[in-house]
Amino acid sequence: PPPVPSDIEIAQQAIMRPIRDVAADLGLGEDDIDLYGKYKAKLPLSLASAPPKGRLVLVTAINPTPAGEGKSTVSVGLSQAFRRLGHNAVLCMREPSLGPVFGVKGGAAGGGYSQVLPMDDINLHFTGDFHAIASAHALLSAMIDNHLYHGNALGLNPKGITWPRTIDMNDRALRSAIIGMGTGNGTMREERWVIIPASEIMAIVALASDAEDLELRLGNIVVGTTLGKEKKPVRARDLGATGAMTLLLKDAIRPNLVQTLEGGPAILHAGPFGNIAHGCNSLVATRVGLALADLVVTEAGFGSDLGAEKFFDIKCRAGGLNPEAAVLVATVRSLKMQGGVAKAELDREDLGALERGLPHVAHHVRNVQQFGVPVVVAINRRTSDTDAELRLVADYVATLGVPVAMCNVWAEGGAGGEALAHEVLGLLNAKTSAFAPLYATEQPIRDKIRTVARRVYGADGVDFSSAAEKSIDWLEANGMAHTPVCMAKTQYSLTDDASRLNVPTGFRMTVNEVYGSAGAGFVVAKCGDIMTMPGLSKKPAAEGMRLRADGTIEGLS
Ligand code: ADP
Repeated sequence: PPPVPSDIEIAQQAIMRPIRDVAADLGLGEDDIDLYGKYKAKLPLSLASAPPKGRLVLVTAINPTPAGEGKSTVSVGLSQAFRRLGHNAVLCMREPSLGPVFGVKGGAAGGGYSQVLPMDDINLHFTGDFHAIASAHALLSAMIDNHLYHGNALGLNPKGITWPRTIDMNDRALRSAIIGMGTGNGTMREERWVIIPASEIMAIVALASDAEDLELRLGNIVVGTTLGKEKKPVRARDLGATGAMTLLLKDAIRPNLVQTLEGGPAILHAGPFGNIAHGCNSLVATRVGLALADLVVTEAGFGSDLGAEKFFDIKCRAGGLNPEAAVLVATVRSLKMQGGVAKAELDREDLGALERGLPHVAHHVRNVQQFGVPVVVAINRRTSDTDAELRLVADYVATLGVPVAMCNVWAEGGAGGEALAHEVLGLLNAKTSAFAPLYATEQPIRDKIRTVARRVYGADGVDFSSAAEKSIDWLEANGMAHTPVCMAKTQYSLTDDASRLNVPTGFRMTVNEVYGSAGAGFVVAKCGDIMTMPGLSKKPAAEGMRLRADGTIEGLS
């Protein structure tokens, strides 16, 4: 077969359908959608409360490695395969952040012949949702410092302000800064910036069920605590910020309709990080998908330990969703890395290393199964994979008693995903799903964290720093005792140490920091060092980008 062109070449050669035709496939007329140009549209929020008719399929993966797993690529490809087989399927994915686009990871619109379009718009400003979220976040930041400046009637402790500032950029210089320097410029204090997918407002947009719920959640945001011993929470509502923040988000709360490379519908909306937030596209987008299509393919960030766990325990619980099947994406290359092979050696056949890495798949299969959701393993085929390697993985997965499918959607588009689509349909038709979250939210915070660490990561136990202990006591005394926990840890390992690959045993998790996201409705437990503001690499992807004279884009991947 001819070599597969680059992602951007494929995307630029594609002939897109007018988005109104894509909407028509979902039964939507022109009055139902708001056009953002010819190829993007906003969907009405009212559809999110329409009765669901579709069946929900989650795409998750093993732990990511630099070798690449291709979760987004498989998600797009699977939705394309369903449509090729005559099903009314829709893809629900999250929106990319500019940080990774200009950093090393590249965009998040799939790859090869399984992409969403218009790829360049999606990776750049898209329909402005992230800018709106950044503005709402900035408004609250400005109102906090303005409140301090004008007399601080609420008694907010300037040293106890937990609301950070935000920007959609990898910019390490903003991790810690002093603001308010000079006379007449307000209270001088230390400030930190987080990248926009780490903003609580991103998580709120992703979890709000409608505009009213959005406003309620925004009001609940805790920006800091009061001076003195009592340390009462101060909320966005107390500052009078909620109404204006909601205004700024009135369009951002509506899901975006775009299309796959094969012209099928794709709903892209919100993009909280999977390592520090819950990592799923918005609840309203998934509900709109379920109202309009028979099959909804959705994705959750990173491996099953982070993405799938939080998809099930946070998003599905919050939205009353019923996931009925899951796809676990794995590649031969990344399993060889789990088995100890260095990145430079991955193109060589190495059955020994592959065999050593296979228990890693079994661990992720069990992770999904313990939520009661049946799973199929998708082997995302790379050109360097040998037949013997592919056979070894397939035979091993068969011994786990779960189906396995070769998936070649990167090179072949939907046609390369038909085998996977048949396996997923088999799981759906068997109707064996009995989804249930892992823990009850009524459990004490420490127990919820221990449950996830033991059952999902395979840890022996959890150690809490003294700061975390204090924080948990405060949260339990201030109305946050009965929320889900949002675990924040490295995506590269089942443990809190990125260098420990495969299936580590005999380890404990260390929870360094715990804080409440009262608006999002969860308590974040941070294990190990987790970055809320990435930096650019020595040679950022941004250096290779330019706009050609004809208006087309070069260097976006
Ligand atoms: P993830 O969602 O796991 O982060 P993506 O689907 O975004 O991964 O893919 C990451 C990169 O790997 C993309 O540039 C994509 O084109 C590439 N990729 C994915 N699958 C394959 C494959 N089978 N062969 C070659 N490249 C692939």
